[in-house]
Amino acid sequence: MSISYNKVMTRIHLATLCANYQFLQKQAAQPIAVIKADAYGHGLKEVAAALVETGAREFAVGTAGEGALLREEFQGPIVALLGTMDKEDCRQVWEHDLIPLIHRPGQCREIAEAGPREGTLRVALKFDTGMSRLGFSPEESAQVVQELEKCPNLKVDMVCSHLACADEPESEEFVRVQASRFRDLCRMIGSQGHRFRECLVNSAGILAYPDLHLDAQRPGIALYGSNPFAGTAWEAKGKGLIPAMETVTTVVAVHELQKGRSISYGRTFTADRDMRVAIVAAGYADNYSRGLSNVGQVLVRGRRASILGRVCMQLTAVDVTAHPGVAPADPVHLLGGEGPEAISPEELASWWGTITYEVFCLLGQNRRVYLRGDESEGQQ
Ligand SMILES: *Cc1c(COP(=O)(O)O)cnc(C)c1O
Repeated sequence: MSISYNKVMTRIHLATLCANYQFLQKQAAQPIAVIKADAYGHGLKEVAAALVETGAREFAVGTAGEGALLREEFQGPIVALLGTMDKEDCRQVWEHDLIPLIHRPGQCREIAEAGPREGTLRVALKFDTGMSRLGFSPEESAQVVQELEKCPNLKVDMVCSHLACADEPESEEFVRVQASRFRDLCRMIGSQGHRFRECLVNSAGILAYPDLHLDAQRPGIALYGSNPFAGTAWEAKGKGLIPAMETVTTVVAVHELQKGRSISYGRTFTADRDMRVAIVAAGYADNYSRGLSNVGQVLVRGRRASILGRVCMQLTAVDVTAHPGVAPADPVHLLGGEGPEAISPEELASWWGTITYEVFCLLGQNRRVYLRGDESEGQQ
């Protein structure tokens, strides 16, 4: 744990994470839990350990470096989603028996040459079926097969692709286009004598497209409790997922703001009546976005308080006119909280102008504390 230079603290409820995993596993039988980017800000090792206890048998990380870190704790299959970029990555995938995604010409040879004389490495092939990010195009598939023939120490374990808009009900047609391209690709690779697992869907794909579950699935955001369909016609599909992250801080000061007075840098808010404000210990240095200025809300004593004026580096002003009794040292929730007023990741993301993925990755960079049972911290 790093030095506590700030007051902002992110709590991770591991039992909730496990419940989300079980929720997903009821629908998709072979989940590869995606814990890239430090488990979306929740902590790679801690999340992996909790999920292993609840039955997880396979993980996907971002980089080979993340894979090496996870290998210290976990003996099963680890997929490295970014594949290999340099010599060090190629060395690490062999040393730690990681499954790198191979997604560009020449990569097979680079990996094969980094290996020992004896032994084989499992690899995954990644195809671009519509995301236009990483992966071989369907036209390159014959070339990949040729390259593999020259690398007898590599064994194709899995063929993958990634859906661009599985979380948009209105984009079902494009999901079907991607799935159909993927099926053709798998058939072609299979016809060349390779035996492998087919893996296409992310969280949204798991929840919405049971017919595309194939041999393995890659849930990410749903594990952390964000419903990929929140606010859409398919919202019910993710009902039951519960956010595992909460972010808290404390009140530093409380004071009056007379009618006509402005508050914070740039004077972007002026009181139109006599108000009371609480100054809260959180700002953009804690990854609490300045974009929340005059838009976001926090939870103080179980009630909502609106942000007034600009979010500063380590301080933010909120309106507590309607909440008598708020005092310095009171806990404040930036994310989560008890009761019906709790701040959901989706709500915070919408004020922030982003998605829950980014909220988790950023708030997760604060000091983290882990709660192992279903214990509630309440208002402490
Ligand atoms: C991040 C990622 C996932 C998980 O996606 P979610 O939308 O978080 O479920 C799956 N596959 C790949 C290749 C990814 O990069």
